[in-house]
Amino acid sequence: MNFLSFQCQHQFSSGFEIDVAFKTEGLVTSLFGPSGSGKSTVLAMISGLLSPTFGKIRLGSKWLLDTDQRFCEPVENRRVGVVFQDQLLFPHMTVNVNLRFGQKNENIKKPFEFNRVVDVLELGSLLDRYPNNLSGGERQRVALGRALLSSPEILLMDEPMGALDDNLKLRVLAYLERVVNEWKIPTLFVSHGQAEVRRLADWLIVMKKGKVLSVGEPDQVLGSSTSLAWTNSVGPVNLLRIETAYKRDDCWIGKIGVQELNLPPLKDLNLKPFYVRCLPSDLTLSVQDVQGLSTRNHLNGIVQELVELSDRVLVRVDVGQTLWAEVTPQAMRELKLYRGLSVTCLLKTRSLKILW
Ligand code: ADP
Ligand code: MG
Repeated sequence: MNFLSFQCQHQFSSGFEIDVAFKTEGLVTSLFGPSGSGKSTVLAMISGLLSPTFGKIRLGSKWLLDTDQRFCEPVENRRVGVVFQDQLLFPHMTVNVNLRFGQKNENIKKPFEFNRVVDVLELGSLLDRYPNNLSGGERQRVALGRALLSSPEILLMDEPMGALDDNLKLRVLAYLERVVNEWKIPTLFVSHGQAEVRRLADWLIVMKKGKVLSVGEPDQVLGSSTSLAWTNSVGPVNLLRIETAYKRDDCWIGKIGVQELNLPPLKDLNLKPFYVRCLPSDLTLSVQDVQGLSTRNHLNGIVQELVELSDRVLVRVDVGQTLWAEVTPQAMRELKLYRGLSVTCLLKTRSLKILW
């Protein structure tokens, strides 16, 4: 589904020039890129806070902007819900009043219903509290609730979890997932975290210096050499989604399709789905399954892509989900890796980190 079509050019008095065009695919799209690349500027153009010199923006079947036609939908008519990193809630109003502040029900076919928003975001026990007495994660949930109650056609989020620590980030992320599943609301979010992007986004747009660097599915784009040129560090972070897990004898097992993954001890088997994180350098590739190793996990897969960097090669393997493995150029030659080859991914249980 293509809900947003965006093509804008603008130059700030500072000299910074932005020239960006993209179409989204799927429900959730992430804007990713270094600081100063123009991500917030793109959101400002969609919400109408900034009018670009040239541009066309279409949301669903409606035009928000078309400078050729001298058309610009005023901010107050754009049905856009915005959530920022530091949420500006009214400090002297309760959560209840904050939530109802921007509520729009009139003339809207299917408005977001107050009680349902409160349920999905678990805000019931917070309604009589004041923003200053809320934790960072709670404030973001209220902000998200408030944005939803304006019954937007698109949700724009600018590093919504940027100010939260890792644990809280994951909690808020789980709420975001719920929101997207419940209302199927098209969402565009700016993020710095690869795990966040892989977990939530169907589509990824990488920006740099006011331009689009690459566009595509997160699993692929995060490992492309153009994206890696600036992430530069560990390479693509692997994130496996586990829907089914159980304990057998003394081992915790998660399922990746029909394959089993030995997991570190789980705190709670009922919390599903959950995610398992590991780095490309945690994986060993083998072209035949080897017996007699202490490594517990042997996941079979097919090589999808080889990204050759100066000192290493990243190999994208489909094991039912995407796993990136890092090998040396010598190993790639010796193993004769190519696209379509069947391989086994060896993965130590200890290198897996569980994310709830
Ligand atoms: P990001 O969100 O990716 O960090 P921004 O969109 O905030 O990047 O900014 C991109 C560039 O545009 C920066 O160089 C910034 O200084 C410039 N910029 C943003 N807003 C304005 C403005 N209102 N006036 C002048 N320059 C701006
Ligand atoms: Mg920004």
